[in-house]
Amino acid sequence: MKLFAGLDQIVKRDEPLADHCWLGIGGPARYFITPRSREELAEVVKRCRENELTIKVLGQGANLLVLSKRLDAAVIHLGADCFTSIDIDDTRVTVAAGADLPRLVRHCIRAGLSGLECLVGIPGTLGGAVRMNAGGRFGDVGASISSLEVMDGAGRIYRRGKDELVFGYRRTNIAAKFILQACFDLEADDPQRVLRQAKQMWIYKKNTQPLANKSAGCVFRNPRGLSAGALVDQVGLKGKRIGGAVVSPVHANFIVVDTSAKASDVQELITLMRRKVQEKFEVQLELELEMW
Ligand SMILES: Cc1cc2nc3c(=O)[nH]c(=O)nc-3n(C[C@H](O)[C@H](O)[C@H](O)COP(=O)(O)OP(=O)(O)OC[C@H]3O[C@@H](n4cnc5c(N)ncnc54)[C@H](O)[C@@H]3O)c2cc1C
Repeated sequence: MKLFAGLDQIVKRDEPLADHCWLGIGGPARYFITPRSREELAEVVKRCRENELTIKVLGQGANLLVLSKRLDAAVIHLGADCFTSIDIDDTRVTVAAGADLPRLVRHCIRAGLSGLECLVGIPGTLGGAVRMNAGGRFGDVGASISSLEVMDGAGRIYRRGKDELVFGYRRTNIAAKFILQACFDLEADDPQRVLRQAKQMWIYKKNTQPLANKSAGCVFRNPRGLSAGALVDQVGLKGKRIGGAVVSPVHANFIVVDTSAKASDVQELITLMRRKVQEKFEVQLELELEMW
């Protein structure tokens, strides 16, 4: 492995991405790399750059559809210990990008810190959540961020303060390749009260989304003032099946899959949902789910 000579311990070849994504489908990645430090990450980035190899950053694949052909890229996963830490100091919480989001939410609730309970029930890593400003009707991750540390495609690290960051509906202005760490300023509160609120939000989510099935969350962004799920429902596609992929009967903006599903089943269903909504409402649905 000349390209990554000396880094053999952290580089796998032709790793099936299906094993790393919530949908459980998708082909292999040419390289799958799990750096153990920021220095190793910077070295990997440098080698990719020198060899013009595309970099893809993978969290837990909770918002991804990976296609079945081999992905000619270096998929970098921030899953090692140094990228998953959570440090709480009074109301300031410093979280590394690979940390599990539900674990972060639990830690904050237990510590009596309010601000992130709105993220209850959202799977994935902190990095994935920041990248798309994950959230829902109760709030989003960007609202409590006070600063970020990011790394660019040349391996340089920068700090971005609150005044430089813009968080919108499932969007941010972060251009850097890697989110490395986020700092949150949260509100001290009664742990029992925060827990009660989180439970209410969790019950709402459980009653309205197909959380028991395999999915990658919402397929489409809501068009301004409209609900993508309601539009798909109104064109009669709730429950529509193609191969192993189904438009969820619980929430029509979710595609759920069984073990026989192929990436092409999901793709065909997405095309059908878009076409029907375009024909009936002249609305172009924009993907929230990312395709690799
Ligand atoms: C059952 C279910 C329910 C969901 N509910 C919600 C919800 O209510 N609200 C919501 O917003 N989302 C929801 N999602 C979608 C998903 O949980 C979020 O998008 C989550 O933030 C994805 O995190 P991830 O680590 O899995 O990212 P991935 O899916 O691995 O990656 C998503 C994007 O983030 C990028 N990325 C990941 N880590 C980093 C990093 N460290 N630096 C830079 N870029 C990075 C990737 O390159 C990719 O572009 C749901 C998903 C499921 C399966």
